[in-house]
Amino acid sequence: MIHPTQTTSSFIGVDVYSPILRAALVKGDGSVLERRQAALDSDASVSPQVERLVTELRDAAGATPVIGIGLGIPGLIDPQTNRIVIASDLPAVLRGDLGAELQRATKLPAVLVNDANAAAYGEYMVGAGRGSRNMFYVTIGSGVGGALILDGKLWLGATGFAGEFGHITIDPEGNECVCGNRGCLETVAAAPNIVRRTHERLNRDSTSSLSRLALNRNFTATDIAREARTGDDFALMMIERTGKFIGTAVAVVINLLNIERIVFGGGVMEAGELILNPIAIEAKRRSFQPCFEATQLVAATLGADAVPVGAALLARDTTQKSVP
Ligand SMILES: [Zn+2]
Repeated sequence: MIHPTQTTSSFIGVDVYSPILRAALVKGDGSVLERRQAALDSDASVSPQVERLVTELRDAAGATPVIGIGLGIPGLIDPQTNRIVIASDLPAVLRGDLGAELQRATKLPAVLVNDANAAAYGEYMVGAGRGSRNMFYVTIGSGVGGALILDGKLWLGATGFAGEFGHITIDPEGNECVCGNRGCLETVAAAPNIVRRTHERLNRDSTSSLSRLALNRNFTATDIAREARTGDDFALMMIERTGKFIGTAVAVVINLLNIERIVFGGGVMEAGELILNPIAIEAKRRSFQPCFEATQLVAATLGADAVPVGAALLARDTTQKSVP
């Protein structure tokens, strides 16, 4: 279906994420016209920082009218009130009513969505989810998130908080998680926790001192993936073990939903096949075979555009719903 505003209007999507705020001017068909980014001061009021990028993008839009703004937030959003319930990484966004402040400043409707939901919708509409009707999206970066699209629509759950894939328990005796539970997937598979596990292993395993990672005390998850790609066995083992944890949780999703496609995004997935293969092997091992065979496991394709594009398209859908 062609949306009436698909070619003549545009929308602004923003990834409200520390340390970088990313914004994009997006056409109604999901194509990106312009991008802007700025360092985010996560302790200062967020609204004026977003507003600056919105103004820049509206100037860049020229004569093309901008119809609405979508904001991807790393936290829980109440869809009834358009307000943030929890955003533990960004305390400043909790202090105000970001949606209302931005609406006042820009005179545009501003819709708040969970960032994993936004990325999922972006991938579903114009990325790796295209062509599917039912899709689960997994994001593995500084945190672990998930989002569900059922029959072409985001499934938000009873109160808007569905898809908390990162808080599936994979080790009942594991580390304490930010959510209060123990042994959540996020406690082992989020980028900072991959780094922590790697440090722990380097400290207690004498053969691991042969790894190139031992030479650099301040390595990141990206460094681990790079070393794995260039043949460092220890780094490869850490990536594979992480994939195994993720695959364990993916098997739960496959068994529960018999879902058509699972799309994997986020910074940790930059390891590509090195992590996707162990995820698939473990998911296959732990899931009901007919369900596994019906599921495609694929890498996301939009990269850093996923959240801004998805948030902009959700703003498009919301503004169009309000037109009689
Ligand atoms: Zn948790």
